[in-house]
Amino acid sequence: MADYLNAAALLALAREAEAKQEAGAPTPCSCTKTPLDGWQSQPLSLDETQFDEIGTLLPEDDPEPTFSEHLPGDTNYWSADAPVAPRYFPYNRCTVWRCASCARLYLRYTEGGGYFVDRRIRALRAALIEDVPLPA
Ligand SMILES: [Zn+2]
Repeated sequence: MADYLNAAALLALAREAEAKQEAGAPTPCSCTKTPLDGWQSQPLSLDETQFDEIGTLLPEDDPEPTFSEHLPGDTNYWSADAPVAPRYFPYNRCTVWRCASCARLYLRYTEGGGYFVDRRIRALRAALIEDVPLPA
């Protein structure tokens, strides 16, 4: 079972990963072949074995987190600039993965259930992480 990451821990990891990319020339990597700035169905070209799971955003004490989404302004689920609000759908079901080759971070979860199952992936950007509390 992967470690639970709260928003602060997620932000720290994302900043660290981005600092590594900025320290040198950004590392070209097979994981960036398909743009993953917004949610995408996991590209078939993506080699899953090159990713390591480093944490989960699923709260341990809440096995059925909310399906509410946090989408301010003109953003929608697919937007490249949609905020990453860890307490809201789909982030509250995501696991966090690190590319073993380039150390970039990704969020992944499985959309749907039953006959319709789609594995989705999105690149994690520190600037989009927003710790928005759930309504009381
Ligand atoms: Zn990579």
